Amino acid sequence: MRRDPLAYLSAELDALKDRGLYRRLRVLQGEQRAQAIVDDRQVVNLSSNNYLGLTTHPKLRERALDATRQLGVGSGSVRTIAGTMAIHMELERRLAAFKKTEAAVVFQSGFAANAGTVAAVLTKDDVVVSDELNHASIIDGCRLSRAAIRVFPHKDVDAARKILRELPSRGRTLLITDGVFSMDGDLGALPDLCALAEAFGAVMMVDDAHASGVFGKNGRGTIDHFGLHGGVDIQVGTLSKAIGVLGGYVAGSRALIEFLYHRARPFLFSTSHPPAVAAACIAALDVLEEEPQIIDRLWDNTRFFKAGLTSLGFNTGLSESPITPVVVGDGTVAMKLSDRLFAEGVFAQGIAFPTVAQGQARVRTIVTATHTRDELQFALDIFEKVGKKLQLI
Ligand SMILES: *Cc1c(COP(=O)(O)O)cnc(C)c1O
Repeated sequence: MRRDPLAYLSAELDALKDRGLYRRLRVLQGEQRAQAIVDDRQVVNLSSNNYLGLTTHPKLRERALDATRQLGVGSGSVRTIAGTMAIHMELERRLAAFKKTEAAVVFQSGFAANAGTVAAVLTKDDVVVSDELNHASIIDGCRLSRAAIRVFPHKDVDAARKILRELPSRGRTLLITDGVFSMDGDLGALPDLCALAEAFGAVMMVDDAHASGVFGKNGRGTIDHFGLHGGVDIQVGTLSKAIGVLGGYVAGSRALIEFLYHRARPFLFSTSHPPAVAAACIAALDVLEEEPQIIDRLWDNTRFFKAGLTSLGFNTGLSESPITPVVVGDGTVAMKLSDRLFAEGVFAQGIAFPTVAQGQARVRTIVTATHTRDELQFALDIFEKVGKKLQLI
């Protein structure tokens, strides 16, 4: 008999197939754009996090090419040995200025930034107080830190207060929320949570992955949007979404950043970005300063599309951002909706448990600055046609 100790994995995949939740990877032919060719089909793309269309912006492309010609394709080492290039330091200075903090440090991804930072700043004697919908990378960081994890219901500030009030006085406390929640598109309760952190002497951390480049002046994020500069001790952002490239960063005090140089494991034990990545990110920060009208276009498109979906009668939840979910409840229905939309030329990902709670399955849409009105109207027309066929509206 053939030995197959991993047979249980095939069984689990079969179970997913039975429930209609098995997903094949969709493959993009060519560039990440508002209209793209995916699995050989021309579609209006409502699935990327490419909020500002920067993945193909000429300025970013040119700077990445220049950096590759001048500096090569790889950094050759981790940051703490020989892999800190001048261009990495330049990007970090630019990010600190962008976020109005003393310093910033870049990680290989937003995931690594969150997981590496939470795990570094806490010990097993500490406590994390975390919104139930916080990103998986925060949850993993909490687990790696071995701190006690106390989860409060989504945006329930009273529940967070109650947890903080009842904590034993020893040990440190980290209060943590996403700035924009990635599955619902709503904003974290930042002003109230910052006040709580202040009152209880907790460290305040915000993960602004979906907000940087989208909210605040020139896309500075939710801390700027709410006027909370100085009130958030650890700001995390990603370079992989609106910035259009790859990476994550932490912005905060000089001491925080130098501590992370010494203790954040992805920084210490994983190679730094190629120079092209850093160069393209610097170019993206230039674009945010020089072409803020791109952000205005993102918001114009967001308002148009959200109003369209709502007036068709879809349940779009509580979104306040360019992320608009179409909540249908059942996972199988969400996948069916997504598949029918795709067959008609609209790419919007179906999302089910465990990415969202049971009964909260949805198709998630994300508009970008680079969608044309015609593309968005086409998508709305298809949503209407398919939604009626599936008796969702
Ligand atoms: C996408 C995302 C991340 C991870 O960022 P990457 O740069 O893609 O690794 C972290 N936190 C939140 C809230 C996100 O949405």
